[in-house]
Amino acid sequence: MSRAYNFSAGPAALPEPVLRRAGKELLEWQGQRASVMEVSHRGKAFSALAERVEADLRALLGVPDDYAVLFLQGGATQQFAQIPLNLAAPGQGADYLLSGAWGRKAVDEAASYVSARVIASNEADGCIDLPAAGWQVDPAAAYLHYTPNETIHGVEFPHIPDPGPLPLVGDFSSTILSRPLDVSRFGLIYAGAQKNIGPSGLTLVIVRSDLLDRAGQPKANIFSYAAQARAGSMLNTPPTFAWYLSGLVFEWIAEQGGLAAMGERNRDKAQTLYAAIDGSGGFYANHVAVAARSWMNVPFFLHDPALESAFLRESDAAGLLALKGHRALGGLRASLYNAMPPEGVRALTDFMADFARRHG
Ligand code: PMP
Repeated sequence: MSRAYNFSAGPAALPEPVLRRAGKELLEWQGQRASVMEVSHRGKAFSALAERVEADLRALLGVPDDYAVLFLQGGATQQFAQIPLNLAAPGQGADYLLSGAWGRKAVDEAASYVSARVIASNEADGCIDLPAAGWQVDPAAAYLHYTPNETIHGVEFPHIPDPGPLPLVGDFSSTILSRPLDVSRFGLIYAGAQKNIGPSGLTLVIVRSDLLDRAGQPKANIFSYAAQARAGSMLNTPPTFAWYLSGLVFEWIAEQGGLAAMGERNRDKAQTLYAAIDGSGGFYANHVAVAARSWMNVPFFLHDPALESAFLRESDAAGLLALKGHRALGGLRASLYNAMPPEGVRALTDFMADFARRHG
């Protein structure tokens, strides 16, 4: 077998023990004489799994009892629309704090349903620092939305912004479960699964119960958080395999020591890589302000862009996958989600030092 260290931004690496266990259980799951993909989502076995996975997630993240946990589909992108549909009354505004490309997408999608107002943005500076402080929310807005970690630009909020009287909505797609989080500070947390949770196809929404009472806008049931909460996220057939596999990931995180242990490990991994970049004498560079640097996604550039194709070819051959930067930014990017072991990051920094020696 030649599994390599996979630095993909998403769909991203999954913990190897999880994949091994899924492999073992693939043909026959829990005495069902069928795989987990082949049984009814309304049957006893899958219902028990769904309950257990939710309980495990609640325990990991410390989700307070007055929050609903929804396992939906459509990705984080569908949430860009579903959030204003559910939380904003017709004609009501919503405030957005922008720190990169995904926040921009969120506000543009929301604009179909709500008067979306950008209250602060770092776009003019090329998205390399947090939006400048001093912004103010409109107290009449439906919510304040922000992107705690910008996957493309590698900009992360080191603190939770103060939303004043508004419910705070966070797109945690690329940072959920990477460290402890105070869920009670949020009205709504959402995340596509394919980075730190499980396979693509599942979208996690954690929403404070009082927000489920908001009428929002006219919409079909399938887009209604309240209807999904009443139906246990099973208004229709859910992505059962993704749900199952995410449950295995939650168990794996708990075995690693939970989110506090994950957080320490992730902080160390990020520090190792940033130190290698900053200590390269300018051969490599990351342009993000130090306080806003992401632990999960590290975009970086070679001093000579002509070396990029050699870097990608040689790193791939050395067992370091998917280091090409996002097309919007170019350069290189290493994503260091939970499933990336510290040894993978050291293998990358060793390769980088060797490459710099040979091409410097
Ligand atoms: N938000 C963030 C922060 C992301 O990183 C991504 C995907 N890379 C998305 C939203 C879009 O997610 P999806 O593809 O699940 O719709």
